[in-house]
Amino acid sequence: MSKKCIYCKKDIHEERVLDVCDVCGVGVWGHKMFSTIIKKMEDARDKDDLVSTNTIGIKDFDKKKF
Ligand SMILES: [Zn+2]
Repeated sequence: MSKKCIYCKKDIHEERVLDVCDVCGVGVWGHKMFSTIIKKMEDARDKDDLVSTNTIGIKDFDKKKF
């Protein structure tokens, strides 16, 4: 079962911690920021601390108006 990008509905890796594809992620945050977000979320996931991570980037995302 695969996940879909919450913005463009494109299929993304199910292991992706963020429900946003590379295109949308990079388009909004830029390569550097996007990879940083992914890394932080993966770190959080590894620590079983994914409680608030799903909202961190999304709030930012909405603010910038995709
Ligand atoms: Zn997308």
